Amino acid sequence: MSQPICAPATPLFPGAVAVVRVSGPALAVLLQPLVKLPAARRASLRTLAWDGFQEQALVLFFPAPASYTGEDVAEFHLHGNPLLVRRFLEHLGRLGIRLAEPGEFTRRALLNGKQTLLSAEALRDAIGAATDTQLRQAQARCGAVPAWVEAARGALSPWMARAEAAVDYGEEEGIGLDLDPMRIDLGGLRRTFHVEQKRAEAARWLRDGLRIALVGRPNAGKSTLFNTLAGEDRAIVTEVPGTTRDVLEVRAEWADLPLYLFDTAGLRHTEDPVERLGVARVAAVLEKADLILHLVPAMDPGPDPDILERLSPYEGKVLVVRNQADLAGGEGLRISAATGDLSALEGALKERFLGGLAPDACLGALATERQRALLDELVLQLELLFQLQEPCPPELPASVLQGLWTLLARLTGEDRAETALDQVFSGFCLGK
Ligand code: GDP
Repeated sequence: MSQPICAPATPLFPGAVAVVRVSGPALAVLLQPLVKLPAARRASLRTLAWDGFQEQALVLFFPAPASYTGEDVAEFHLHGNPLLVRRFLEHLGRLGIRLAEPGEFTRRALLNGKQTLLSAEALRDAIGAATDTQLRQAQARCGAVPAWVEAARGALSPWMARAEAAVDYGEEEGIGLDLDPMRIDLGGLRRTFHVEQKRAEAARWLRDGLRIALVGRPNAGKSTLFNTLAGEDRAIVTEVPGTTRDVLEVRAEWADLPLYLFDTAGLRHTEDPVERLGVARVAAVLEKADLILHLVPAMDPGPDPDILERLSPYEGKVLVVRNQADLAGGEGLRISAATGDLSALEGALKERFLGGLAPDACLGALATERQRALLDELVLQLELLFQLQEPCPPELPASVLQGLWTLLARLTGEDRAETALDQVFSGFCLGK
């Protein structure tokens, strides 16, 4: 039987209300010395008294199994004083209720079948989301196991049964496993996996955000673009070359894309010590950027050779953009940071990172590194089935099919590799 646990469910700052949650078996008995728990799911005002404190609290009781964790759960809505919360938790400790580890409530929910690992990860992402898109994407993953996962199980299970039968009784009963009908039948699954892989690759960027570094010669319009993308006047825009002396960073959402923007001091050789400091930091930013936007004014004959040279180690992730397209004609990916005409940039980013998918088309897609790794593995394993040559002992397809089944179980968390669980739940906050 699991130990009873407690934790603050709200941040420890002064505020109107602080919620403390308790989960465990037989809470009514355990909490008896402190409070008579109200009827199921009825909020009741109770006076909690301990150590000379008298707290009026709203108390809720969710008897097992109809609760977040699947165990008995009690919620105490105290006044929002962090000291009060601490004293209350200490008192719960004396009643034999220990402080929960981060994610322990959700972990119990998983073990009791109240959540899947997918919905638990989605919940963690929903709590951590910093932009509207990230929040929407995470929320869309919070519900049931994706339909395609269930469909995959439905498609695999009859072939698993046939493969097992062929392995167990094949020789004496003459039961074989013909690869071709199986492959025809699983063709749809193969396509589904590829679609989901594409969606997951896009959803990854929506979840993690794009790290975009802006570089270009002085007056190329970096600060202007930075501010337009960020939607606020963060960088100082000026006509004196070299005024952005350090790397400015801002988190923003633009065109439904979560961005980490880095405005750089440029990549010039410079004798100015302050500016040189900035140039050194730029190198670190370029290193970890997902994309380097090299802004080149439309009236320039082409990109600055000195900057091109310095960007050469990052060639694969450099995108040259012609800015100030309102002032001069020419070729290439043309924008105007000052007038806000950035449609070409939006198209280029969505093509490059989302594979041309609209953010809405990624709703519900797998997104975390763990999930994507498993999906890649699913694709590889399924390909193995399609590469098997006749004649082939039934043990081979049987073991590949079993492997696919296990991967799906690992994805949803039904196959509980403890290390994977530890990794997921270490990212949770206390009380979740
Ligand atoms: P930075 O040195 O690269 O950061 O360049 P700034 O963003 O400070 O821009 C330099 C000057 O160019 C400012 O006066 C901006 O208003 C102007 N500018 C930036 N982008 C555009 C553009 O797309 N069109 C026009 N007409 N002016 C721009």
